[in-house]
Amino acid sequence: MSLTDSLDVRPGEDAHLVLRRASVLDPVAGIDAIHDVVIRDGEIAELAAPGEGSADGAEVVEAEGMHAFPAFFDPHVHLRTPGHEHKEDVETGTRAAAAGGYCGILAMANTEPPVSTAADVAALREQARASASVPVGFLATVTRGMQGTELTEMVELREAGAVGFSDDGLPITDAGVMRRALQYQRLCGGNIALHEEDPRLSMGGAMHEGPLSALLGIGGIPSVSESTMIARDAALAGYEGARIHVQHLSAAESVEIVRTAKAAGVRISAEASPHHLCLTDEEVRSLDPHRSKMNPPLREERDREALIEGLRDGTIECIATDHAPHQPEEKDVPFEQAAFGVTGLETAFAALYTDLVLPGVIDLGLLVERMAGGAEPFDIERPSLAPGSEANVALCDLGGEWTVGEDGYESRSANSWCAGRTLTGRVLVTVAAGQVAFRLRSFSLGVAA
Ligand SMILES: [Zn+2]
Repeated sequence: MSLTDSLDVRPGEDAHLVLRRASVLDPVAGIDAIHDVVIRDGEIAELAAPGEGSADGAEVVEAEGMHAFPAFFDPHVHLRTPGHEHKEDVETGTRAAAAGGYCGILAMANTEPPVSTAADVAALREQARASASVPVGFLATVTRGMQGTELTEMVELREAGAVGFSDDGLPITDAGVMRRALQYQRLCGGNIALHEEDPRLSMGGAMHEGPLSALLGIGGIPSVSESTMIARDAALAGYEGARIHVQHLSAAESVEIVRTAKAAGVRISAEASPHHLCLTDEEVRSLDPHRSKMNPPLREERDREALIEGLRDGTIECIATDHAPHQPEEKDVPFEQAAFGVTGLETAFAALYTDLVLPGVIDLGLLVERMAGGAEPFDIERPSLAPGSEANVALCDLGGEWTVGEDGYESRSANSWCAGRTLTGRVLVTVAAGQVAFRLRSFSLGVAA
């Protein structure tokens, strides 16, 4: 299914653009060369020889030295609507996504009230058609009101257009409930995205449990609170022949369990977040909740390395931001009392490019591939630059340096884990579902030919 078959976006004008002499990189489609990218009627019409793409009334962007990638897809975003629109809503959240180079996102259901009925899904889809800059898909909760006890009407929710199910924010602690949810997943399709945490093990914790939590005297969240739940759910999914997607892996043991489950044929996919790939619990020393308080918590260097290895070998097929907007009153408080979560849509690509690609830890191609890897686990077509594809393009300046937060944010919240950092790699233009969804203000797009 293409992006707009399963997701909703505000209708707009089809893009008609030529990206002249762009360095085009789409590892999945096997494209790595300089081309004129001709976008016509919302499609990639042609990858022409440099300088040869027919402008034919299109806007021409002199893109020499710039990179065109398949735009990114984020399967884990908190849009906070309904209930907490002072933190984010469909309009601001999708604007932030577009500014980050994303052509599609999936919104989590832990709103207030949670997205648990067909009417809830219908109302959100309506909002997306009125105000979303990039296509959005909505997940519904697995259990009614995220209470963890009674399943929602999963079949009906799928018919209403829920892309999948998740109680994200909370784990599904009851194995019997989880098993029944998996039986329904097999019946109605979609996917179940899991926030894996055993609350009996993590209770009262505010950071990773390890030498540093002991030193700082802060309650710890042990790695096993995540890995034991993933092991349980991988076993259940295998037993039921159902499909699961594990959210925000943070621990080395978790990566190993997903790897083993995949090798055994379990239908399991996994994501990692930029902050877990770039930072460790050392960051908590600053006691700044904006930078370092999230759930799951930042863990140790060995965990970070295991996540990177998981990205490399495909155990982790996608990067997901877990973009979690909060207002200052929830963050400007002592570490233990602060809300969990950081924003990430606007900085994901640049942070990973700066921290992992520039130092040579992973290559650019791998980053580009994993940034768009979140679509397929939800049966959504992966963004592609192959001619004939719907136009989903992120045009980036890999030499561009910028300071995060200096020009403000598209997001309504400012709890960026990168705030104040100077990053390299800037998104200039995002084309999403055939429409220009974002252009960097200081970047002139060129003139109509
Ligand atoms: Zn979560």
